[in-house]
Amino acid sequence: MDITISHAMMDNTAELVNIGIDGGKIIEITKDSLTPGNTAIDAQGQLVIPPFFEPHFHLDNPYLWGEVNQSGTLREAIEIYARVKKDRDLNDLVQRATEALRESLSYGVLWFRTHVDIDPIAQLRLLKGVAAVKEKFAGVMDISVIAFPQIGMARKPEIVDLMYAAMENGADIVGGIPHIERDMEDAARQIEIAFEIAKKYNADIDMHVDETDDPYWQSLELLAEKTIQENYQGRVTAGHCCSMAAWDEKTFERILAKVKTARINITTNTLTNLVIQGHGDKPPIRRGIPRLADLINAGVNVACAHDDVKNMFYPFGNMNPLFAANLAAHAGHLTTPNLIRAAFEMPLYHAAQTFGIQDYGISAGNPANLVLLPVQSDIDALRIQPVPTLVMRQGKILVQTELRRAFDPSVPN
Ligand SMILES: [Zn+2]
Repeated sequence: MDITISHAMMDNTAELVNIGIDGGKIIEITKDSLTPGNTAIDAQGQLVIPPFFEPHFHLDNPYLWGEVNQSGTLREAIEIYARVKKDRDLNDLVQRATEALRESLSYGVLWFRTHVDIDPIAQLRLLKGVAAVKEKFAGVMDISVIAFPQIGMARKPEIVDLMYAAMENGADIVGGIPHIERDMEDAARQIEIAFEIAKKYNADIDMHVDETDDPYWQSLELLAEKTIQENYQGRVTAGHCCSMAAWDEKTFERILAKVKTARINITTNTLTNLVIQGHGDKPPIRRGIPRLADLINAGVNVACAHDDVKNMFYPFGNMNPLFAANLAAHAGHLTTPNLIRAAFEMPLYHAAQTFGIQDYGISAGNPANLVLLPVQSDIDALRIQPVPTLVMRQGKILVQTELRRAFDPSVPN
């Protein structure tokens, strides 16, 4: 055996197991002891889990913490970024994106989806930078690039052309932002265009949906209807979904039924939306978080993401998926055991479903993709959000982090 990991705790059964890895695959999981492999790791009771996902991020702008977003709104953030991206240096883009990805990897992320702005200012420049980053990380992280028409498409044929060009030049997934259009009619047109592009390239769709407090915007319903019409069930993801928090009950129930039939994946960007929504409200103040508990209880696949880190859109973040899951659990009232479990699974099994990864999980026969977390349960993983001590991809150890805490003897125990 190439590698053996002993005394690891399975996250779903809480059993201590020994894992044998050979040729990049998990060969055996047993309670019996294994002959130590060429590399023998004692997990000492740590949780062994499959690696994390970052399902919604913007690699073209992490750590661009400069001009201050005074209003704290999405509108001002987009305006600031429009000025910044105009003459964005691509070497700088690659360097900052690399930093974000290395952080992400250290927290156990092996699959990553990034949007990249496609518009008359960016043209395909930012895509070029992000494609270079993807290439740089080939064999380390799987990065999917989403062509993102930040300022809309319905009345902008030049952006539609750029979107097709983006799909020819390194983008994998078709993005969108229907609520940036003039009205719901134009939102429907944008969704129609996105499907035309996606079908041409047999690509998945992943959109920014209803990132506003205004209940007028219900483009999630249009997206679900189109998904069913085009037989794209399970291949479409809706990020944000903030206006859902402002819909009345009847509207929510009606759209929820369509989302379920369309098997739309929802990604909550709780971190950014908690700070960027609600600025226009007098009390009571909406916070722009989709109804996570209701969605999960209804069987909708919900993942969580960072979206941004330390930039004009969002000043905080650390790339740890458990931080995003923890915040989602807070904002979404995920506090009963089944919902806590769902929160833990959001950046793991749920996101795996969004990405369509089949051979995912700690099982014999699967690729040896795994993370060791220095906790003993899902609730403690969410609560403490520890740095993994080990991150493995296909049997190769990519990151090891040593944790050492030493109390002075005078500190009581
Ligand atoms: Zn986003």
